[in-house]
Order: sequence, then structure tokens, then C-alpha cells
Amino acid sequence: MAYDDGNIFAKILRGEAPAHVVCEDDHTMAFMDVMPQVDGHTLVIPRQGVETLHDSDPAALAHTMHTVQRVAAAVKQAFAAPGIMIAQLNGAAAGQTVFHLHFHVLPRFDGVEFRMHARDMADPTVLQAHAEQIKARLKP
Ligand code: 5GP
Repeated sequence: MAYDDGNIFAKILRGEAPAHVVCEDDHTMAFMDVMPQVDGHTLVIPRQGVETLHDSDPAALAHTMHTVQRVAAAVKQAFAAPGIMIAQLNGAAAGQTVFHLHFHVLPRFDGVEFRMHARDMADPTVLQAHAEQIKARLKP
């Protein structure tokens, strides 16, 4: 399907919508999910405007995966998480709700269940604090 740049992540990339940013570079951006399924739930997106993994060019995907790797390491440290889950949904049938390619970085703990997907807004002050915690642990 043709990419629609009216989606919320495209607006965040253009600076038209706010975000609790963890990092950004020429190719990617990472920010806190506003309806986190677990504390530390972070999203990594390419700047390239594509809906799904299938549409991404390999070079853009490589940059994005590098950011996913860096952010995952920082989230793991910041939240002392024994496990990190990376999730990525393609198409409404897979549960995708925002149609700009993105990777979820999710801390996991034994016995801690996820909250509902895209359901409850978190306190912006808490999200900003979480973004700072992660940012402080990012390596180049
Ligand atoms: P998807 O279901 O497409 O894989 O995930 C979209 C994610 O975007 C959900 O986890 C949802 O909570 C998050 N989300 C939706 N709207 C916003 C927003 O305005 N800002 C941020 N930072 N995250 C959002």
C-alpha cells in the first residue's frame, strides 16, 4: 500500500508532534511508547517513510537495526531487565496500528505480564524520566 505520511510517527519525525526522544541520527529515531506495555517500552523507527518491513530498503533497515541493538542494550541496563523482547508488526492483521515501520524494544522480567497493547497513556513526566535513563546508557 502507498505510504501515508499523515501517521503519528511521520509527524514526530517532522517535529509536528511531541515525543520523549531517546536518540536520533540521520537515519533513525528512538522514543518512548506513550502507551507502554511495560516500563521502558521504546520504539525505534527509520526516517525512511515506509509502512512495513517488506517495503524497507536493506540499507535503511541495517541502520534501523543498529539503532535497535544500541537502544536494546541501553534499555536492558537502565531497567536491569534480564530479558529484552524485540517486536515488529506488519499489517493490520498482525496487529499493526501505526503504519510507519517501527520496532518495539520491551524489557522482560520473570512473572511480569505486559499491559494491554496501545491502551493506557503513561504520565509524561515518567516517560521523560525513562527516556533520560535510557539516553544516559546509550553507547555509540
Ligand atoms: P503497532 O501496533 O503499530 O505495532 O504499535 C504502535 C505503537 O505506537 C503502540 O505501542 C502505541 O502505544 C504507540 N503509539 C500510538 N500513538 C503514539 C504516539 O502518539 N506517540 C508514541 N510515542 N507512541 C504512540
